[in-house]
Amino acid sequence: MKVTILGCGEAFDDLLPNTSVLVEAAGRTILCDCGYSVPRQLWSYGADPDAIYISHPHADHYFGLPAVLGRMWESGREKPLTVISQPAVLDQIKDILEYGYRGLAARFRFPIEWRAARVGEVDGIEWNFAETMHSAPNLAVRMSAGGKTFCYSGDGMFTDRSRALFAGADLLVHEAYFFDESPVHADIGRLLEMAEAEGVRQLALVHVQRGLRREPGRILDAIAGWAVSMPEPLAMYVL
Ligand SMILES: [Zn+2]
Repeated sequence: MKVTILGCGEAFDDLLPNTSVLVEAAGRTILCDCGYSVPRQLWSYGADPDAIYISHPHADHYFGLPAVLGRMWESGREKPLTVISQPAVLDQIKDILEYGYRGLAARFRFPIEWRAARVGEVDGIEWNFAETMHSAPNLAVRMSAGGKTFCYSGDGMFTDRSRALFAGADLLVHEAYFFDESPVHADIGRLLEMAEAEGVRQLALVHVQRGLRREPGRILDAIAGWAVSMPEPLAMYVL
């Protein structure tokens, strides 16, 4: 399993692309979240996803989809695409495709399977989900294949259910917007404690608030000695 951080920025970051992760496992390529500054990252990386997972309906997590799917159409794609999310979010994605390029989705030559996020195995990958605490309904995701497990939080403070989802993960990519506690975002102090308690092997901190990340000394001091990284765009993890 290979995991590439396409973007690690927060919603309004002037330097970093929105948080987005590419997972290559079981012969499949899955894009996790696709905000408005992600398409260039995806195209320059050269990936052609089989599936796209959207964690929640905030623009920095899904407004890149009209461009990504538009270019799939323009480049003559015929390979099926699976889009996975909460049912209400699947409807919102269909809406923004229409707002972005009216009538284009009807001309796609590739079939799209709109799949509600639910537990189960798909194409050799075992999927599971859990709600976090965020200002929009957000599902963290767990993907297991070939004896390895990757987890991605989307946005939000972890919950009893999401920390159970993350237990024993080989890699957890988690939003870490703040250093201090917040009701709807994760903070770095409690994340470190949770990851250790749940046996997470590697933790990657993304979606760090832009001012906090620009002066990272406080974070680097906190994570020293832990199996924790604060990746740059295009950082890669081989599990
Ligand atoms: Zn959000």
